[in-house]
Amino acid sequence: MNASSVLSLVREDLRAFAGYSSARSSALVGDVWLNANESAWANPADPQGSARRYPEPQPEALRARLASLYGCTPEQLLIGRGSDEAIDLLVRALCEPGGDAVLVTPPVFGMYAVCARLQNAPLLEVPLLDSESGLNADIDAIIATALSGKAKLVFLCTPSNPAGSSIALSEIERVATALRGRAVVVVDEAYGEYAEQASAVTLLDRYDNLAVLRTLSKAHALAAARIGSLIAAPELIQLLRRCQAPYPVPAPCSALALAALEPASLATTAARVAEVKAERARLQQALQNAPGVRRVYASQGNYLLVRFNDAQVAFDALLAAGVVVRDQRAAPQLGDALRITVGSPAENDRVLQVLTAARAAA
Ligand code: PMP
Repeated sequence: MNASSVLSLVREDLRAFAGYSSARSSALVGDVWLNANESAWANPADPQGSARRYPEPQPEALRARLASLYGCTPEQLLIGRGSDEAIDLLVRALCEPGGDAVLVTPPVFGMYAVCARLQNAPLLEVPLLDSESGLNADIDAIIATALSGKAKLVFLCTPSNPAGSSIALSEIERVATALRGRAVVVVDEAYGEYAEQASAVTLLDRYDNLAVLRTLSKAHALAAARIGSLIAAPELIQLLRRCQAPYPVPAPCSALALAALEPASLATTAARVAEVKAERARLQQALQNAPGVRRVYASQGNYLLVRFNDAQVAFDALLAAGVVVRDQRAAPQLGDALRITVGSPAENDRVLQVLTAARAAA
């Protein structure tokens, strides 16, 4: 596939869009900077003046670090305010309002549908299939529906939130091949660090209609820093940059992210991921044997989807004990389910104690 074909999927009116030309993006050199209407003095709260000037639109050092973390080149990576911003950017840049559709696989992370709605992009829904092995993506139906419904974007969430299932790379390749030249397949790997399977970034060289989302919000424990990455063909990244806000990465956030990507921090993150996986297995096992629990889905994420005989009783008991979990009952197919994030060992013990006690009292 040649370089121009992925751009042919972008909204025609945006293909030559130049975007905003920010003060930081010009090639000018000097030592007296009077081109951006910044203050000449630091704020007393920021004595070093580290936040006095507008930040680099895409901080180069952070971009390089994230690229090496995720196994791509810096040119393939766009830093956004969480992966939420990348989802929004993709929908806005690819979907002609009222025309091009977005395909999702409910029950699934809600932001894909929210962004589609804001863009007035028709939503195509291909439900996950519930079976012995879990709630899994229906790949044949995804391909057929994307083709017949004129999808421009297909969101594959793997590991899937809240179902916990993952999609094999061979299945992702099947979707990318079938939709080549027709749609961009977005593989959301927000929970990729907790999964056993390799990242879809390894497929990018072969499919330029693939895009991958990663984030520092989950395994790296920096949800408040809002650092998400979109990894895709360089020409698509360049175009999306022109559609993005001028300075999307606040300097304090990029400094924090850089520190989190130092080897010592990464080693701690890896140890925490291993701990979450061990706790996930323990919690899954214990919940399966808890009274009142109908089903616990195997999970590749840092959460478990649990069906209860009475989800309200379980939710209320947990809340009364100060434990807040995610009520999934409004989601399709999940009328009896709660999603429980894997916490620290002590937090998980509390969940188990409460649920056991709640059933004993009922
Ligand atoms: N994708 C999935 C599947 C998620 O669950 C979330 C957050 N809950 C996000 C993306 C967004 O993450 P962030 O914007 O913090 O990177």
